[in-house]
Amino acid sequence: MNPFQKYWPIILIFLLFMGCGDNERITAFKKVNLVPMTEEKIVENQTVLVKGDRIAEIGDTDKIRIPQNAKVIDGQDVYLMPGLADMHVHLRNDWPLSQLDMYLANGVTTVRDLDGRDFMLQWRTEIKAGQRSGPTLYVAAPTIRGHEKNPSELVLKRNSGYDCIKLYSYLSQENYQKVMEIARKQQLYTIGHIPFAVGLDGVIAAGMDEIAHVEELSFELIDFDRTKNLNPEEWLPYVINNAIQQNKVSLGFDIKSINKNQRKRLSSIISKLKPANIPVCTTLVVDDVIVQKLFEPNTFLARSQNMYLPQMYKQALLQGKEKHQIQFGGIKDLAPFKYDLDKTLLIELHRAGIPLILGTDAGTGAMGIVPGFSVHDELRILVENGFTPYEAIATATVNASRVVAAMTGKNEFGTIEIDKRADFILVNKNPLENVAHIKDNRGVMAAGEWYESPYLQSIISPALLPGIAIEGNVFQVRRSDNSLNTNIEIIIGESFIGQLPDAVDSISVTLTGPDGIPSRVTLPHYRYFEQLRDFWYRIDGPPALGEYTFKVTGQGLSGTATDFQTVNRALPFPDITTFSPAKGATLTSKTPTFSWTPVEYPDCEIYYRLVINDLAGKRIYGTDRTQNMLSDTVAEGILKPGQTYQYRVRITDSEDWVEMQNRSDSQWLTFTMSETLE
Ligand SMILES: [Zn+2]
Repeated sequence: MNPFQKYWPIILIFLLFMGCGDNERITAFKKVNLVPMTEEKIVENQTVLVKGDRIAEIGDTDKIRIPQNAKVIDGQDVYLMPGLADMHVHLRNDWPLSQLDMYLANGVTTVRDLDGRDFMLQWRTEIKAGQRSGPTLYVAAPTIRGHEKNPSELVLKRNSGYDCIKLYSYLSQENYQKVMEIARKQQLYTIGHIPFAVGLDGVIAAGMDEIAHVEELSFELIDFDRTKNLNPEEWLPYVINNAIQQNKVSLGFDIKSINKNQRKRLSSIISKLKPANIPVCTTLVVDDVIVQKLFEPNTFLARSQNMYLPQMYKQALLQGKEKHQIQFGGIKDLAPFKYDLDKTLLIELHRAGIPLILGTDAGTGAMGIVPGFSVHDELRILVENGFTPYEAIATATVNASRVVAAMTGKNEFGTIEIDKRADFILVNKNPLENVAHIKDNRGVMAAGEWYESPYLQSIISPALLPGIAIEGNVFQVRRSDNSLNTNIEIIIGESFIGQLPDAVDSISVTLTGPDGIPSRVTLPHYRYFEQLRDFWYRIDGPPALGEYTFKVTGQGLSGTATDFQTVNRALPFPDITTFSPAKGATLTSKTPTFSWTPVEYPDCEIYYRLVINDLAGKRIYGTDRTQNMLSDTVAEGILKPGQTYQYRVRITDSEDWVEMQNRSDSQWLTFTMSETLE
């Protein structure tokens, strides 16, 4: 029988399964409390059938027939809501973990990048084809900032494959009009800052489709000359200067009086936006984070999401060189004022029913805004400013989908309705009661692909983050005066870029005894041995036996290591009376030899190590721990003529530093190198 005949039945079965193909994949969410987001309601005991990436059926659980081949997800007592969208992000591919994974884990199933690059188009295609997991992507063309040679030409150049055009603050009146005209002819969706030279009136007149930040509107509350011909780097300082003068910053800001004085202007902004019905992206979390960084740095540093930030960012922050630390240098008070102003605008926009969509400006690596996590912060801020949970969630679901519809012609997510994209979060508690409930999910579905919570947690696990490489060792030292002590040493790997010892925030050591009970080891103040990047502690008495776990934190990173102490031995001392050179000797050789006699200890193998220090304690020379080594010759050039040194021999029970458990040290012997060496 040829192998094909033999395996034919198996191949046949396999082919049958293949035939069921990906498009036919069916998932059933059974007995869920449905949060459809079509209106503010919860529909109990519903079953939702998903075929491929679309919602196929929704109905009362007893009326929906679940196909045999469906994957069934039990939704009893939990809530099925639409996945969230972050409509203002900046995707990067050089963060410690994948930003796409961070979005999924946070229930963010749609993101729009507002300064696109080609790699994002590739991601967009791969995600759509199911070759890469991630939220559905929409990507704006690379931002047209305004200082380019011919901005209007760029509109066409950048049109290829992108979903919309993003315009920045520095377009001149003339260029802005040209850009908008071309975009209109090409039917391209335009989203942007409000260019300083253009202003809200100009933006509305030109028909820009969307405003990228609530913050953009705050510039409408400041008087400045829009006809000034300024370079990009001159505009912001010029406008801020005007803001400070007009608002008497030296007396401290009072948002209430600003409110009163600016009431007319605020209502004028609203009355302009209202008929234009221009959606505005929120991005309030940027203000929230700026104020924290400047005024409550410890609160900011303590955010657990910071572990995902790039190391470079954390470094810049600790050195005071972070983007906003620089931007607000000398005008720190402007930050909370600006936040208050933006909150006021948010409240007014919301009250007036201007379409608001959730955006967080996450991901650049320059501002400390962490992809995915920032969406939950933004939702919290919206609720703090008068949004009901339903209204806040709408900014990241229905409202977002309407904006995408204006951009692509398809309104296909944001609600749980038949034929919509199957983007869901299965949450444990009612999200319409508290937006914080959304953080606690059982799983996320993105375009029909189901990810369970344990899997999502595993792809953003702290264990995947680059940590601090450390080695730790606990050992007993029998000192030359016959006393016993416990040495605990922790060596920090070279990959840790902080300045030692200061950049280490904490070191802790836990002992789990033979009884399995863990206890914290009380550490005396450390001594730091710079040459070896070694933090060390000396405790009187021999070490307790058991497993030691070391933990080091610093610069937002952590590292752990373990070591075992299983036996305390009384290793003998080497006998210094047999040492050569003898104490106080003067050496004339350029390559002196040091020698000693063996110790007697039959219980284990014995390793010897010669160490030479200068009189200040600096390590000049040390051999490896070598079994049965009874002499060593020091190479030329290490010991300098005319210098006095000290040496000793250490006896250990292992050649490996971490495995070593016991050590005994001879006394130090001094010797002097002759002025002339031969
Ligand atoms: Zn942005």
